[in-house]
This record gives sequence, structure tokens and C-alpha cells, in this order.
Amino acid sequence: MLILVVNAGSSSLKYQLINMEDESVLAKGNCDRIGIDGHVSHKTADGRTVDADCDFPTHTEAFEKLVEVLTTGDAAVIRSMDEISAVGHRIVQGAEVFDRPCMVTPEVIDKIDELRELAPVHNHAHALALRACTAVIPATTPQVVVFDTAFHQTMPPKAYMFGLPYEDYEKLHVRKYGFHGTSHRFVSAALAEAMGRDIKDLKIVSCHLGNGSSITAVQGGKCMDTSMGFTPLDGILMGTRTGAVDPSAVTFVADKHGFTPDEMSQYMNKKSGFLGISGISSDNREITAAAAEGNKRAILASEMLAYQIQKFIGAYTAAMNGVDAVLFTGGIGENSWEVRERVCKNMEFFGIEIDEELNRSTRGKLMKISKPGAKTEVWIVPTNEELLIARDTLALISEK
Ligand code: ADP
Repeated sequence: MLILVVNAGSSSLKYQLINMEDESVLAKGNCDRIGIDGHVSHKTADGRTVDADCDFPTHTEAFEKLVEVLTTGDAAVIRSMDEISAVGHRIVQGAEVFDRPCMVTPEVIDKIDELRELAPVHNHAHALALRACTAVIPATTPQVVVFDTAFHQTMPPKAYMFGLPYEDYEKLHVRKYGFHGTSHRFVSAALAEAMGRDIKDLKIVSCHLGNGSSITAVQGGKCMDTSMGFTPLDGILMGTRTGAVDPSAVTFVADKHGFTPDEMSQYMNKKSGFLGISGISSDNREITAAAAEGNKRAILASEMLAYQIQKFIGAYTAAMNGVDAVLFTGGIGENSWEVRERVCKNMEFFGIEIDEELNRSTRGKLMKISKPGAKTEVWIVPTNEELLIARDTLALISEK
């Protein structure tokens, strides 16, 4: 049984075709630069590729190209789209409307589009892609949507409410939603399995560290709290995003620079974080290399990141009244021994002690890196959001 997983953005359409018999990826790629010009890159499991400029005025042409590269030419992996059992779509914002995956209907697409005010960059693009997909794939192929925010819908009100007037929660739906939920759900379940424990008995702090980063308290398999907020800007320092900032500093800077709300949002989302602090790069590898050479602002960026993560581990240990395991995932969490080492230093009070040799020599694979006997286990757990979307899609269509 084959499931096509689609992750659509405003100008890109990333996809993976997954064989659910063994959960292997048959092909993956990206139809990119939609609305600009167009480019397709496609790669099959046995190494055949397509890399070509195209013309993608809208998501529909991009979807047509996706179908073309999957079904025809030298890098085809299927003969017809009828071989695909279902399509699973990643959706960023489900707000309080969607707390679990659901089947795609015209009403569901409209609702996702309506939520665009809460995720301006993403939800409208998702709706465009869903409509394009519906127009291009066979009408008999079911589609499922899986929401980044859904896992966080179990947060109690005391965790998701802001101290703003209650009426604006009711009228404007301003609250913490949290993001990366599919990743936190995948890695916390994978960790419980690796530990040989029932997730219902575990208190986990899940650190997803990539270009965007979030930390989640997972108690008994449910999200209790998470560091991203109303949007993915809140929480810890990221590649180009600020993380949490005193809101008065935001109004002060906007006033001094004469920024509109949109300009201020750009400043905090695109020019801040690692990039803004270091003045070098948003990329962790470049920050780590510059810090190793003694660049003071790169060292500062590295120290800020580790310190902020440590504080979240402390806060979420308090929120859950304990912690059994801390896990690292995402591009930085899985690959950067430097970041993991900095975070786990001086955390003995929390029972966190890692085997430094093992940490330094491990990259991108499921591995316990805490010392034997340490009270709190520390793990690297590679994430795989596409696979979880495929599993959710399969589970939903199997119910029918
Ligand atoms: P996104 O949030 O866009 O999905 P990723 O999860 O791919 O991002 O993470 C990107 C980050 O991971 C970048 O800051 C990059 O420097 C970092 N990263 C990727 N590979 C390595 C590596 N081998 N060592 C250190 N950092 C890495």
C-alpha cells in the first residue's frame, strides 16, 4: 500500500511516496519556486533523479508535475496515480477546530483556509495545495490532513492562556497553540518504545532543535506545555527568529524604527535569532564553527541557545513534577554534539549526566547518551514527521 505525503508551502510542494508494507520511501522531492518560475527535484530510492526548471504559475501546475515525475520518464516509480491508496497532507495550524487528523472534504479545506489569519504564511498555501491536489489526483483517492498543532490541544488552559483580557481569547482566539506537534508525538512515542516503557508512565522533555525549534513537556504521552506559542516565533532562540522577548521591547523597537506590524514581524522572524545575534549566519554549523574560532558573538549565540534550553528543561520538570528522559531531535538536536554537550552541562541537579565520548561520536541515530545509572535518561531520537503523517493517513482510511 502506497501513501503520498505532501508538505506544501506558499512556493513549494515537498513530497514523499511511502510504501507502508515496510515504511520505506520509494521517492521524494520538491516542486519548488511556485508562482516565481518553477523547479522540480525528484529522487528515487534506487538513485534515479529528475532535476529540471519548469513553469509553476500555481500549485496546480506543480501538482501536475509531481504526478508526471512519479508516473512517467526515467525516474518513475508507479504507472498510475491509481496505485496510491491515499494522500496525507501536513497542515500547520488546526487551532481549536482540529485536534486530530481528519479526512479532506471541501468544508475541511474551507475551514483550513479560514484559519489563515492564525498562520498567514502557511494555511492559505495548504488550502491552495489541497484544492490543486483534489483537482489533479483521481477523485477516488482519499486525502487526509494531519495538523502540527493537534498534539498540543491537550494542554490545560493554565498552560495555553496568555495574560491578556479574556475577551480577546474568545473573540480573536489569541492563545498558545504550539507547533512541531507531529514531530514531538513521533519522537516521544519512539523514545518510549526504545526505553521499553509504556509512554503513559513517562515524563519527557522533547527538544526539537532545527531552523525552527520548540521544546515540549510530554506527560503520559500527552502535551502538557510547549515553548512555541500563538505562532512559531515564541520560545527559544532560533535560526532567524527571536524566541521569547519582553513585549515592551517589541513595541519600543517598532516605535524607534517606525516599523509597521508587518515590518516588525519580518524583523523578529527573519533578521533575529542566530543571524541577528551573531551577524554571521542562521545556520548552526556556521555558528558552531565561528564560535570554535573565538568569534564572540557566535559564542554568545551558542551560549544563549543552551541556556534557554536548560531553563525550559527546568521549567518543564517543574510543570510535570519530574522528568524521566530528555530527548534531542531535529537537524541540530540529532547532529550537533556541541549543542547537546552545552545543554547537558551543569544539569546534575536534574539527574542529567551524559557520556561525553558517546555524545561526541553519535550523529543522527537513535541512541541513549546519558551515563549508565543517571537518574534522567538523555536520548537522541531522529524525527520522521512524514512517516507519522503516512501512518495517521493509513489509520484513518483503514477505519472507513
Ligand atoms: P528545519 O527546522 O528547517 O526543518 P532542520 O531540522 O533541517 O531545519 O535543522 C536545520 C539546522 O540543523 C541548521 O541550523 C543546521 O546547521 C543544523 N544541522 C544540520 N546538520 C548538522 C550537523 N551535521 N551538525 C550540526 N548542525 C547541523
